[in-house]
Amino acid sequence: MQVSGQKIVVLGTGGTIAGTSAQAGDNIGYTAAQVGVAQLLAAVPGLQALAGGMLEAEQVAQVDSKDMDDGVWRALALRCAHHLADPDVRGLVITHGTDTLEETAWFLHEVLDVSKPVVLTCAMRPATALTPDGPQNLLDAVAVVLAPGATGVMAVAAGEVHAARYVQKVHPYRVHAFTSGDAGPLGWVEEGHVRLVQNWPVGQTGQALGAIKEGAFSADWPWVEVVLSHAGGQGRGVDALVRAGVQGLVVACTGNGTIHQALEAALLRAQEAGVRVVRATRCAEGQVLPKPGDALPDSQGLSPVKARVALLLDLLQAD
Ligand code: ASP
Repeated sequence: MQVSGQKIVVLGTGGTIAGTSAQAGDNIGYTAAQVGVAQLLAAVPGLQALAGGMLEAEQVAQVDSKDMDDGVWRALALRCAHHLADPDVRGLVITHGTDTLEETAWFLHEVLDVSKPVVLTCAMRPATALTPDGPQNLLDAVAVVLAPGATGVMAVAAGEVHAARYVQKVHPYRVHAFTSGDAGPLGWVEEGHVRLVQNWPVGQTGQALGAIKEGAFSADWPWVEVVLSHAGGQGRGVDALVRAGVQGLVVACTGNGTIHQALEAALLRAQEAGVRVVRATRCAEGQVLPKPGDALPDSQGLSPVKARVALLLDLLQAD
């Protein structure tokens, strides 16, 4: 039984959902991360009522999520762990920018012991837009937290519920900007009712959190970069990264994990020099199917940016 209380904590991290523009009709010339999370919640009619008056707000950060960094992730993971351990907390909602939402979702999936729901939500239109999408997304996120049996790290946007494992931003402008690709959404939120078509995501044991707690005051997490294989590829960039001290490299490969020969030679040199190298596909859907004898390991289905998170956490725990 995962719930023994009714409190829902909403952790604010910024994003367009908290963005403002000088003109109400301006959907692109706005500044993200301006409105406090308490103010955001207060502006949504019926939200407190839906949560039975048990909604609490906490501002963890106030950033445009394009600038998401290790420091915010560390703070967010520790605050999530703190609230999830509280028997009076039913679940968490996290307001977040859309740009790196999928990375934060995967990071939290990997580090938290989640037997309660942790729902990230966002907006493609600022709070000052003529038709902001944030308020409905917040209502839907709370509805998911309240859904019977809800567990795991998820994202809710445009009426869809996505698992952290598969969610991906696929559009820079339209309100319906997220997909789970081949996997499809977990379900939909319709008039406050969650229609689930897949099981709730299974959470992790929270082992990685120990490494984050221990490293809570250390200067830097391991340096992991994503490099892209493309026509006209070269190895010089990778050689420079290795000289500069990079510890992990994810290569966003063409097709089924193939890499331009010049780049591949440099990546093999990097691996030989002790840098961890992982292959993911740059294709929007599907995953690399490994073959016997592959010289570079694959990301086991993770997209390049999520593979970077996984490699970062691996290195962090190996430290
Ligand atoms: N740049 C914004 C962010 O990710 C975009 C958004 O939230 O839609 O914070």
